[in-house]
Amino acid sequence: MSDYDVIVIGAGGGGVSAGAILAREGRKVLVLEQSDLIGGCCSTFEKEGFKFDAGASIVEAIDSIENAFLRLGTTFQKEVDLIPCDPVYSCVLRDDTRLKIPFSVQGTVEALSKLSEQDGKNFSAFAEFNAEIHAETKKGFFTSPANSFGDFARILRASPGLLKHNELFTSSYQDILRKYFKSSKVQETMSFQTWYVGLPPELALGIFALLAYLEHEGVWYPRGGMGSIPEALARCGEMNGMEVRLKSRVKKVMVHDRRVQGVVLDDGTEITAPVVVSNINAKTLYLELVGEEHLHPLARFGIKSYEPSISAAMVCLGVDYEPPLDAHHTMITAPYEEMNDYWWNRLDKGLLPKEQFGLVCWATKSDPSLAPEGCHAINVIFMAPYSLAGSDWDKEKERFLEDSIAYLARKAVPGLSDHVKVAELITPFDYERRLLHPGGAIYGLQEDLVAQTVFRPRSKSKSIGGLYLAGASTHPGGGVPLVIGSGIIASDLVSKYE
Ligand SMILES: Cc1cc2nc3c(=O)[nH]c(=O)nc-3n(C[C@H](O)[C@H](O)[C@H](O)COP(=O)(O)OP(=O)(O)OC[C@H]3O[C@@H](n4cnc5c(N)ncnc54)[C@H](O)[C@@H]3O)c2cc1C
Repeated sequence: MSDYDVIVIGAGGGGVSAGAILAREGRKVLVLEQSDLIGGCCSTFEKEGFKFDAGASIVEAIDSIENAFLRLGTTFQKEVDLIPCDPVYSCVLRDDTRLKIPFSVQGTVEALSKLSEQDGKNFSAFAEFNAEIHAETKKGFFTSPANSFGDFARILRASPGLLKHNELFTSSYQDILRKYFKSSKVQETMSFQTWYVGLPPELALGIFALLAYLEHEGVWYPRGGMGSIPEALARCGEMNGMEVRLKSRVKKVMVHDRRVQGVVLDDGTEITAPVVVSNINAKTLYLELVGEEHLHPLARFGIKSYEPSISAAMVCLGVDYEPPLDAHHTMITAPYEEMNDYWWNRLDKGLLPKEQFGLVCWATKSDPSLAPEGCHAINVIFMAPYSLAGSDWDKEKERFLEDSIAYLARKAVPGLSDHVKVAELITPFDYERRLLHPGGAIYGLQEDLVAQTVFRPRSKSKSIGGLYLAGASTHPGGGVPLVIGSGIIASDLVSKYE
């Protein structure tokens, strides 16, 4: 007899959704989380009276999250108080032009028309095209396994509309933007979203241009902070008997005859189960927790070939004034050529962008309860290299924080420098130490063409029986709704095969 039917390693969105659904189906589930918080990159922590999100700052395209809660016999809206964000974002362009982008497509046409009348009008066609693509992806793209070319063919058969548009898979994010918009300023208002897949506009696949439209189908912030979403999933799981143990780091996955037997914690405790769902980085899982010796040489080669996704530095600020911002998200943007240049010529050399671009998240605009009365909480995400040329993040932490506050005050949040009460920087090293993400990777593995769908580590391991993957390292990739989709996929596969 095993101790549990299923052990889940990691309480990120992918892990808790898989665990909760399997518990609801009657399995005895244990979730082991090494940190003291549920949610991983979608968690919320407290510091001196302020609540800050450790990673994700909003959700959009929430159908797979809704789907997960339905499987738990409830609804997303019943379990989490979702606050709609409108304007969906605001942007500060490189030349300091400011623009508010509202939820409505017509309102956005009018806003963009201030930069270019023709491009403003073209936004309607861009929105119509992407609404059609999004409707197609809802037919199962994000909640169906892609373990083989057969699976992938099934996904495409269910979403034939995707096949009508080769350009989604043969062109880039920037090609799609350029097709619809000629003004470089209008392009710039939509260039930052490419980083939601951790790639520059030139490398992200055309289908991801959807991200520059999805906000117009709704952007939400969960009351209490982003951690409310995985916490609600865990709560539903616990109502069905799922156990969650925090501060429990898994050191090894026990394997015998190429089948999982359970896990070993770092204090040496052995816990047995015939099924393990891993919610951690797939490279760490296979190369460290399972061990190379259990992998076929081809699988070993394959797993080693994946690159970690981009990392980030997150500035968390508690301030004692109302910041002069006008939206939950303010994108400090740059022309896409600058973003490409950063990727090709600076990132690998350990250099920061010549001039920063990033995302200012004003969480207390949506939920004032996250800060003491009269105060506000702001998070700012800057894409960043893990290794810094000639230095490292521990040495640069204080300077980077100071420089960032000065830059933000100058560029986007006037008065900021005089009002900071609490400041913390989460560096790429911190993402690695706190969440055990190798290379500080914020999306698990890179999301370029050779690491998508069938080319991503499988949801059902081919090398090890009883081992399943959920989370950003497997299909459909990083992003809160997507990893929850991966949790649905993993639980469906466990139900089918175990
Ligand atoms: C800065 C930043 C901004 C983002 N912004 C957004 C956004 O606005 N919207 C959005 O949708 N997505 C966003 N994302 C992406 C999204 O947050 C992630 O893709 C998603 O939350 C990852 O979920 P996951 O299931 O892969 O698990 P993770 O969040 O990676 O969690 C894995 C968990 O496993 C635990 N763990 C690791 N190793 C072990 C071990 N050996 N034993 C036990 N536990 C272990 C970790 O502590 C962690 O809690 C952002 C991410 C970051 C970092």
